[in-house]
Amino acid sequence: MMSKMWFCVFVCLFGCASAAKVIIIGAGASGIATASRLLEQNITDFIILEAENRIGGRIHSFYLSDGFVDLGAQFVHGERGNIAYTLAKDYVVHNPEMNEVAVYFEGTKKTGENLQSIGKQLYYEVSEHAPYENLSIGDVYLSRYNTTVLTKYKDDPEMTSYANFLLKNLEAAVLALEGAFDWFKVSAQSSFHEADGDQTLSWNGLGYKTILDILLKNFPNQTGYNINDKIFLGKSVNKIALKETSVEVTCKDGSVYTSDHVVFTPSLGVLKNRHKDIFQPELSPEKVNAIENLGFDGIMKIILEFPQAWWKKERNFLFVWNDKDIEDLKRDIPFGPKTDDDHWLSWFGYFGIAPNNPHVMIGWYSGPFVEEVEKLSEDQIGKAVFYTLQKHLGRDYNVTKPRTVIHSKWRTNPNFRGTYSYETVQLRMKNITSAHEKLSEPVEGGDGKQRILFAGEATHPSRFSTVDGAIGSGFREGDRLVNMLK
Ligand SMILES: Cc1cc2nc3c(=O)[nH]c(=O)nc-3n(C[C@H](O)[C@H](O)[C@H](O)COP(=O)(O)OP(=O)(O)OC[C@H]3O[C@@H](n4cnc5c(N)ncnc54)[C@H](O)[C@@H]3O)c2cc1C
Repeated sequence: MMSKMWFCVFVCLFGCASAAKVIIIGAGASGIATASRLLEQNITDFIILEAENRIGGRIHSFYLSDGFVDLGAQFVHGERGNIAYTLAKDYVVHNPEMNEVAVYFEGTKKTGENLQSIGKQLYYEVSEHAPYENLSIGDVYLSRYNTTVLTKYKDDPEMTSYANFLLKNLEAAVLALEGAFDWFKVSAQSSFHEADGDQTLSWNGLGYKTILDILLKNFPNQTGYNINDKIFLGKSVNKIALKETSVEVTCKDGSVYTSDHVVFTPSLGVLKNRHKDIFQPELSPEKVNAIENLGFDGIMKIILEFPQAWWKKERNFLFVWNDKDIEDLKRDIPFGPKTDDDHWLSWFGYFGIAPNNPHVMIGWYSGPFVEEVEKLSEDQIGKAVFYTLQKHLGRDYNVTKPRTVIHSKWRTNPNFRGTYSYETVQLRMKNITSAHEKLSEPVEGGDGKQRILFAGEATHPSRFSTVDGAIGSGFREGDRLVNMLK
């Protein structure tokens, strides 16, 4: 028979409530930023419950070859007015070569007028000066491409044909920037504010994870806060129940925690998927409206390590596929999603060398097939990528097989359900204003106190989708707690 002591341990493991003044759900950038604000004010009565077996969330740096590479966030986007830049300016570097892209079409390097950079310029024009009421970025981009590029080459059938094929790469680039599956879903008008300065500052082999150490004052020296005993990994929160003067949090493993305040930081993807199950009582109609009408799809990153660098001075490659290539793909790469006139691999166009990591390349994959493609094996992805590199670069380079192939699975991972949020046309058409602010509004308890708080990139009104937006939202909720607790 179970002894009395063992019975107590058993009950506590599977049901007894532990208590903390504050429970932070999620150890991504926003959760760690909230914790850092509390620690700065000597508030230590908090814990962090994290579903994954690591911290960082959509920041996921791992060591490969000669440095850290990032499966998630990689660049600091802009300098002035960017919290991530303020924290990291001594450690991030410029990558001027990011703008030099070698474009390959029909097995040869494209020379002459660089349509790819015209296409990129168009994106910035469209997204910066967008008085386009209720239009999608796809609508506006297409009409601008028509008037600027296709009209210009209307008497040159060869250039027109190339420009038409290149359009898919431009669409893929827009989708990678927005994190969307379909550019007709993304609003051309946006409340996102570009931070001035370099948009592609990189960590140069340190990995974006360094920002978590900076937040906890453990970089460059390990002399800051030690919060190891406050972070509980593998704790997937299933239920957040608002009580009269407290909040009860239940995890998938049956453990129960009570607290005065909860800060909820999981992604908009998690909210879309699970808000009805998690929150008791259900969230307000305004919040649900924001959750349902903001966008959250995904992109995929592919990391390749080669035994030797076979490339020369070119650092970034763009591959343009024509109709014949797509027919060949259907025969040569029989696995993965396809339609009558499309094949998943033809959305794969962009590769760059990892900064300060001479044997590693990083590819960006976006578009309508991301979710299905994430489910392919590393072996299949490796085969497809090697085929792509040989097909487009085989004449100029002695391409070798990659030694390591790793692809991200953000969309299919239930703890993320995608990559970063965007504003949809639907949001504009339904006239839903201040969706990010609605998402960030705290839920009050019966006593009128703010009990469930919301942080995370999608709750930031002007820097959603970025790490600095996530950190800003974490600081905001940390400060809110400090005001309530001090
Ligand atoms: C591929 C990719 C590339 C990107 N590139 C850039 C870039 O170059 N620059 C940039 O600024 N930003 C980039 N981003 C966006 C940036 O990574 C995010 O905006 C930011 O990291 C989000 O932080 P967060 O704290 O809001 O959310 P998250 O990092 O998602 O943190 C939330 C945490 O909650 C946990 N969680 C989820 N559900 C539960 C649950 N039920 N119970 C307990 N815990 C749970 C998750 O595991 C996660 O750790 C990129 C993102 C991706 C995926």
